[in-house]
Amino acid sequence: MNRFRVFAVVGLLVTLSFWLGGVGGWFGRVAARSGTGEDNDMSDQRAEMVRTLRAYGVRDEKILATMGRVRRHRFIPESALWAADPYGDHPCPIGHQQTISQPYIVAYMTERIAPRAGEKILEIGTGSGYQAAVLADLGADVYSIEIIPELADHARGVLASEGYDVKVLTGDGYKGWPEHAPFDAVIVTCAPEDMPKALVDQLKDGGRMILPLGERYSQRLVILRKEAGQVKIEEDLPVRFVPMVPGPADPPASP
Ligand code: SAH
Repeated sequence: MNRFRVFAVVGLLVTLSFWLGGVGGWFGRVAARSGTGEDNDMSDQRAEMVRTLRAYGVRDEKILATMGRVRRHRFIPESALWAADPYGDHPCPIGHQQTISQPYIVAYMTERIAPRAGEKILEIGTGSGYQAAVLADLGADVYSIEIIPELADHARGVLASEGYDVKVLTGDGYKGWPEHAPFDAVIVTCAPEDMPKALVDQLKDGGRMILPLGERYSQRLVILRKEAGQVKIEEDLPVRFVPMVPGPADPPASP
């Protein structure tokens, strides 16, 4: 009887210590991911992500260096981090049914618009703020529009705390940002079904725009160039982005 009790107590202790170890490990991972520890910069995971980007054919050394620098895990809201692997090559949830694009797509779109330092770039769909940070890290002057106020607020906060001077507007990307137009480049990270005219109008002559165009499950990246007032369109990779939602209708003009 006594021996049985001893076994039971030892068994219980072993189970408890495994359980606590498991829970401790889980908390450790979450703490690591939220980057609360000063020494936890996740630079190894970023270096691994950059190796993957190279293997996929990203060649631009400046973009690879930028992606090795920008701390992607900081841009994923804490409430979404538990389910995220910030440096895996896949999209990550950022709340509000939205996602941050997979690193390869961020690198690819950035490479296709080839931002130069000092250029004025408009992004539609700020989301987490990560793509905007990548553009800012490359030295571009970045303007970004987000329709969901909570995401715009989150992005503003994290961009500032990571040291990026990006202007974020809470509003409807279909209208662009006429006060700051014209732009050298426009990058759209949500998918409209038709080409948003205001964005084409706000592009400089010689400017370029990249956007996923099409219906919910069948979109293509499209690259548009404005040359001598003419618009040239090139179809590119098939992709799957969240839809670009129409903004609230303007109030009727008062008589
Ligand atoms: N570039 C982001 C990912 C964008 S996800 C990043 O790096 O994290 C697409 C974003 O587009 C979502 O946040 C969504 O709310 C936003 N969006 C959708 N329709 C929009 C519109 N009409 N105007 C501005 N933003 C829009």
